[in-house]
Amino acid sequence: MAHIDDSLKAALYRITCPDSATLGNYHLGLLSETAAHQVSNHLAVCPLCTRDIAQLEAFLAETAVSLQPSTGERIKVWIAKRIRRGGQSRNMLGTPAFAMRGGDTGPLMYEAGDAQLSLEVQDDPEHPGRKSILGLVLGIETEAVEAKLLQGDGVVTAVTLDEIGNFSFTGLAPGQYQLTLSGETMEIHVQDLNI
Ligand SMILES: [Zn+2]
Repeated sequence: MAHIDDSLKAALYRITCPDSATLGNYHLGLLSETAAHQVSNHLAVCPLCTRDIAQLEAFLAETAVSLQPSTGERIKVWIAKRIRRGGQSRNMLGTPAFAMRGGDTGPLMYEAGDAQLSLEVQDDPEHPGRKSILGLVLGIETEAVEAKLLQGDGVVTAVTLDEIGNFSFTGLAPGQYQLTLSGETMEIHVQDLNI
C-alpha cells in the first residue's frame, strides 16, 4: 500500500512540476523572485525535481571546468603601483607626491607584476592647452598590447604599443584618467592618472 502511495505521489508531483527550462532558469538565478519562490517551495516537497536540479548542477560543474582554461585563468590583472624615484628627485628633503606630477619633474613610474611602466606627461605642442602622454612599458612581451585611456566608463582613445613598448596619446584635455594596457595574457590598470 505504501508503494502505491509513493507512485501515485510521484505521478501527482509531475503534474505540478515546473518544466525543465524553468528549473534550469531557477538554478541559474534567472527567475523573478516570485517564480523562484514557487520553484523552491516545490523543490522542498518534490524529490523528482530535486534530482533533476542535482543532475543539472553536475552537468554545469563539468562544463565550467572544461571552459575554464579559455577564460579567467589565463589573464593576469595587475593594478599598477606608483614608484617614487628618490634618487632622481631634486628635492633633498623628499618630494611630496604632487610635486612629481606634470612634465617638468620627470616621468611617472609604475610597477605592475613583471612590467615597469613610465609615463611622461607633457604639454601638447600642437594643441595649446592640451596634454600628451608618452608611455613606455618594459619587462613584458609588448606585442599586440593595447593601451587604452578611459574617463569614467568611456574609452577616450586607444593605441597599440610598438615593438619595443612605446605608445603615445596626444590632444588630451587635462583631467583624471585611467589607463589600461591589455594583452593576450595580462591586463595592467593605472588608476587615478591626473594630467
Ligand atoms: Zn517536481
